Amino acid sequence: MNKDIATPLRTRAILEKYNFSFKKSLGQNFLIDLNILHNIVSAANVQSETGVIEIGPGIGALTEQLAKKAKKVVAFEIDNRLIPVLADTLSPYNNVKVIHHDVLKANVHEVIQAEFEEQQQIMVVANLPYYVTTPILMKLLEEQLPIQGIVVMIQKEVAERIAAKPGTKDYGSLSIAAQYYATAKTVMTVPKTVFVPQPNVDSAVLQLMIREQPPVELKDETFFFETVRASFTQRRKTIYNNLLHHFGRDKKEEISLILTECQIDPSRRGETLSIEEFALLSNTLYSKLKK
Ligand code: SAM
Repeated sequence: MNKDIATPLRTRAILEKYNFSFKKSLGQNFLIDLNILHNIVSAANVQSETGVIEIGPGIGALTEQLAKKAKKVVAFEIDNRLIPVLADTLSPYNNVKVIHHDVLKANVHEVIQAEFEEQQQIMVVANLPYYVTTPILMKLLEEQLPIQGIVVMIQKEVAERIAAKPGTKDYGSLSIAAQYYATAKTVMTVPKTVFVPQPNVDSAVLQLMIREQPPVELKDETFFFETVRASFTQRRKTIYNNLLHHFGRDKKEEISLILTECQIDPSRRGETLSIEEFALLSNTLYSKLKK
């Protein structure tokens, strides 16, 4: 019986067997710590009936631990050099399917329909390539896939921004975008030493549980996110000034009245507004400015 992939010895042996050289441009930092992997799998609450989508299996360190617990694992890997490696390392598991595809270009909806059963609990679990963390997470959230949640290893700094609460320095449009679709929590922080090669930044495991209903009612989702982004254009400026800058100085009086109507002090900064306040603000702006 082979040892687990995610041990320093076995990982080195696999890399040597295939003469594999890491591509920094693909965010290749492989996990070599079983403890961390077990924590990721349990944060995702993977059970014998769970379907898992993994992004970037690498040489299969996380995939293997998922395959031991889940009903089925479907993994997207962009690097063609890893496809034969994975066929080898994951050969003991008959519940894994590797798809050679850039996840950003993949039709994940279609893959879910083809690979999983209706009503099956589906989780996305990954040690994400850090160069595309945000685009991947936003794609998964915005496409409103039939998944229960996402548990991912990402840069600590991005995890903190995503899970940030109003009034903190990390809170911004990314926090609101993610928290509109999901509840967000940092499960643990992770030292650089659990990766080969070691990344330059600290990492954390982020858990996003998809909301059944959005937390606020919106007149127009696109306009809501436009208002949020506009409010954070210059973080040090007041919400009033950021809104004027975005919607036009000729709207001075209207914007002032709208803020008063929403009971939002114009001298506040965007980072102090809750998602509920942003919803009220964008709904009121929408009715008054967009009609
Ligand atoms: N899961 C492995 C582990 O934990 O050891 C590897 C994680 S490594 C941080 C990221 C992986 O994502 C690499 O295998 C890389 O080739 C792959 N990758 C990078 N960009 C990708 C993309 N756009 N779509 C799918 N896979 C990608």
